[in-house]
Amino acid sequence: MRIVLLGAPGSGKGTQAKLLEEKLNIPHVSTGDLFRAAIANKTPLGLAAKEVMDRGDLVADEITLGMLKERITQADASNGFILDGFPRNLAQAEMLETLFKELDMALDHALLIQVDPDEVVARIAKRAEIEGRTDDTEEVVRNRLNVYAEQTAPVADYYKKQDIVTEILGKGSIEDVQARIQAILRF
Ligand code: AMP
Repeated sequence: MRIVLLGAPGSGKGTQAKLLEEKLNIPHVSTGDLFRAAIANKTPLGLAAKEVMDRGDLVADEITLGMLKERITQADASNGFILDGFPRNLAQAEMLETLFKELDMALDHALLIQVDPDEVVARIAKRAEIEGRTDDTEEVVRNRLNVYAEQTAPVADYYKKQDIVTEILGKGSIEDVQARIQAILRF
């Protein structure tokens, strides 16, 4: 099964994706995590991405797509994967469609996790305390939310036009949200 998880920063995508990874036994592929690993390992990719990420802007599409392609063509992703953080703009959504055609793959579900903006800010503040992400400062979070509204929100409309997106209420406990997702995916 190939799933795209959509939602604002702090909507709980990553948490839900990790639970789905265990349930479905397919990898959780987070482009943000891949970039953070590249930064930690001081690879050329990481060096290129760090400054952009620390501002809360998007890393160049071609760089991100190359990294994603490398990940989803690994053996453990042959039965499917859960994409978290990609596509992040319309150009990436189109690139993903082309890549899927090239790899003879299809997208099964796009799930949009809906959370109130106030809730998102509160969740990110909590995560900042726990994880210490350098892009979870107030100013950078504001920019990331703007980038989401301007560039990523249209991706949901793109999938709506293809009739492939399902909205999930992101309210309540982690288990509540997971149960809603599982009901949609029927397992
Ligand atoms: P995330 O962990 O998904 O919140 O991503 C953290 C940061 O990584 C983002 O603010 C971007 O700078 C970068 N990033 C993650 N995914 C993408 C993507 N698909 N395209 C461009 N930049 C990305």
